[in-house]
This record gives sequence, structure tokens and C-alpha cells, in this order.
Amino acid sequence: MKNKVAIFWFRRDLRIEDNHGLYEALKSPWPVLPIFIFDPNILAKLSNKSDARVEFILACLARLNVQFAQRNTSLCVKFADPLQAFHELADQFEIQAVFTNHDYERYADERDSSIRNWASSKQIPFNTFKDQVIFEKSEVLSGQNTPYTVFTPYSRRWKERLSQHPISQFPSEDLSNYVSCTLALPTLHDLGFRESGIEFPGNELDRSLIQSYQAQRDFPAKDGTSRLSVHLRFGTVSIRSLVQKALGLSETWLNELIWRDFYFNILHHFPHVSQGSAFRKEYDRMEWRNNENEFMAWCQGQTGYPIVDAGMRELNTTGFMHNRVRMIVASFLVKHLLIDWRWGEAYFAEKLLDFDFAANNGGWQWAAGSGCDAAPYFRVFNPTLQTQKFDKDLAYIRKWVPEFQELSYPQPIVNHEQARVRALAAYKKALVR
Ligand code: FAD
Repeated sequence: MKNKVAIFWFRRDLRIEDNHGLYEALKSPWPVLPIFIFDPNILAKLSNKSDARVEFILACLARLNVQFAQRNTSLCVKFADPLQAFHELADQFEIQAVFTNHDYERYADERDSSIRNWASSKQIPFNTFKDQVIFEKSEVLSGQNTPYTVFTPYSRRWKERLSQHPISQFPSEDLSNYVSCTLALPTLHDLGFRESGIEFPGNELDRSLIQSYQAQRDFPAKDGTSRLSVHLRFGTVSIRSLVQKALGLSETWLNELIWRDFYFNILHHFPHVSQGSAFRKEYDRMEWRNNENEFMAWCQGQTGYPIVDAGMRELNTTGFMHNRVRMIVASFLVKHLLIDWRWGEAYFAEKLLDFDFAANNGGWQWAAGSGCDAAPYFRVFNPTLQTQKFDKDLAYIRKWVPEFQELSYPQPIVNHEQARVRALAAYKKALVR
């Protein structure tokens, strides 16, 4: 006879603590089998077989398994197409219900619809919960019931709503209604990957850092930001617990967490952004130069602009880039080189440990001027002035481009003033009709 179980499916919520869907699963009448699926549809797209994100996920699963062992259970990890994985689970268990948290990206939506349909064909309830954001879908709308496309009024309404709907807690760590089992995790090698050598930041929130966030956050040489983005991406910290901490510590940092919700809100209401279109469609008339040699120089940190090269080398080496520098390198690619922002978006998607479609697309379209609440097209960051303002001692540049004053360092790939004039002309041609 097959055991009756409820399945909890981990995705972007790799923690036992304060996990909404897991909490609901553990309150159900059936013992919970926690599962994780390595999806070959996703892994096959990772061309770098040392992709650190796979390693990060495995490390998170190992951590979960230590916690599960204390509860006499373990994760059931599948390496299969999700539908196939559910078929296999249904062969082994009498599945009474599936629980999971909402996942908002386009592929995730399609995947979840197919699992929901399969479950419904077997009369298995497929229960999903909000966990990854504070407010989702249509929870924050304007007075006219329309989605916000500008951050400041969105954030005002978001804060108002928070004051009316205090943050709930889901103490999933206190419940222990699991299936007893001991199962092994796959290795990186089993998944077709190798170690990356990249170090991952911890998931502890440094309270003093957040208190001085406003003053420090723009200087890439300082440890002035939380470095929690990879943990927010994979759910190894709870957004609810971070917002609660932010409320007493720093309004500026709270606003960054709201930007994250804001871009998920854009993705939900304006799905054309996940189909490769500009948020403002008139920007798709831009005639990009798309010079491949210049793109390679940008990717490799060889543009001859030290602040741009430092950022790209930080990204290539660590899988992280400071936000101020992300803005500078993105603006440089799009405006100085007139390379389609989608090329930069794709490169970041490949390299960033914290890659998140909504925030990445939002950031790139912001830089290109084509996004909601974007930098106006005529604002072209001057890399030299940005360096004087945000890395005036050149500490960040020296760290990543130690040879920047030597003859071996490339000459600037474009002249700033000429590139600025060329960018303005290209934007005007596309936009002013
Ligand atoms: P903190 O400054 O400590 O901020 C705390 C958290 O707030 C971050 O971890 C992140 O979850 C959120 N946050 C902060 N700024 C933003 C923002 N502008 N938009 C959305 N969320 C934000 N962030 C990603 O998480 N994934 C991406 O793929 C991504 N791509 C970007 C691409 C470009 C071109 C730009 C300009 C920005 C991008 N960002 C992205 C936003 C931002 O750069 C990172 O979130 C931030 O640098 C992460 O560092 P931190 O954790 O120390 O952030």
C-alpha cells in the first residue's frame, strides 16, 4: 500500500523558517514529503558548467537536509522534467495534496499550470501561497484600480497597505509533521556541473550596516550594502523578516526592498516585458549599432574606462556587482556603445548569482530609458564623473583593474563626448516623430 502524503515543493524559498507554503502543508492532516526538482529545462540553458548558482542551490539543500534530519525526514530531490517528477512521485505515494509558493516568472507560470492541470486530473489539490514578496499581483493598485508604473506613488501606497495589513508570520520551523525517510542528495557531478570556486555571502543581516546604509550604499569600495540579493533570490531569507527589520532601521533600505516588489508588480501587469519587448514600446524603434567586438570588450572588462571594467571584472570573478556600478556599466553599454540592452540583460542573467528576471529586466530598461520610471534617454552617465563621485580614492578601480595606469591597459574604446552626442542622435531619431 502506498503512503498518503502531502507534498511540499521547494523552489525559490529554500528555508524551513517562516515559509508560508511549508507552514500550510505542515498544518494539513497528512505527513509532508518535502521535495526539490532540478529541472533539466533550466539546467540545460546554463552553458557554463561551473555555474555557481547550481552549487549554491545544492549547498542550500544540504543545509535543509541537516535541519530535516533533526525532524527525522529528508528532502526528496528529483532530477527530471517537473511533470515526469510528479508522475514518479505518484507511483510511489498516494499524494493527497501539493503545496508550494507562488513563482512569478514566465516559465514558472507555464510549468505550474501544467502541474496544476495534472494534479486536477487526479483530483489532487494544488495549493499555492504568496511568500516571495510582501504584496503581489493586484494588491497594490492606484485609486483608479490601475497598476502603478512609477515607483514613488507605488511605494507610498505599498507603505499605506502595510500599515493596514501587518505582516503575517508562518512559523513553519515549529511544526514537524513529516514523512520519515532518509534520502541522499545528488552531487554537482550527478547534475553535470563542477565547482565554481566562488564564495557566497552569508545570509545574516548586519544591523549596523543597515543603519548607515543611506550614507554608504553608493560607494562600491565599501561594504555598504547588505549582499542579501542571492538569498532573496533563492529564498534563504524571508522577505517578511527583512521588512520587519528594515522598518526599525532604515527607510532607504526598506525602499530597496520595495523596488523588488515593484518590479514583480511590473512583470505581472505588463507581461510583454518578459517577451523581449521594451516596457515603452516606442523604444523598440531604436537602431542599435551592436558591434560584437565592442560587446566582447565590455564583457571582458577591457573598454579602457576603469570604472566600467572594474564592474565587469567584479561580476566575472564573483557573480556580484555593486548596484551603482551596475547602473554605470549598463548605461555605458546602451548609450556609449549603442548596444541593445537585451544583450547586456542576457549577459547579467548568465553571470549574476542574484539574477532575477524582474529586477534585472527592470534595471536594464531603467538604464536604457525604455522602462517604467526610467532614467530619461538624454541622461548619459559620464564614467569619469561617476568615478570622481563614487570612487574618488580609486580603491574599487585599483582592486579590480590594478593595471589601469599602465601602457598595457586599453585606450578608451569610445570618446565620451562623441559617444554621448551619437547616443542622443540615435534616441532622438527613434523617439522624436
Ligand atoms: P541592497 O542594497 O542591500 O538592497 C537590499 C535588497 O533590495 C537587494 O538584495 C535586492 O533584493 C533589493 N534591491 C535593491 N535594489 C534593487 C533594485 N534596483 N531593483 C530591485 N530590487 C532591488 N537585483 C537583483 O536582485 N537581481 C538582478 O538580476 C538585478 N539586476 C540588475 C541589473 C541592473 C542593470 C541594475 C541597475 C540593477 C539590478 N539589480 C538586480 C538591482 C540591484 O543592483 C541589486 O539588487 C543589488 O545590487 C544587490 O545588492 P545587495 O543585496 O547588497 O542590495
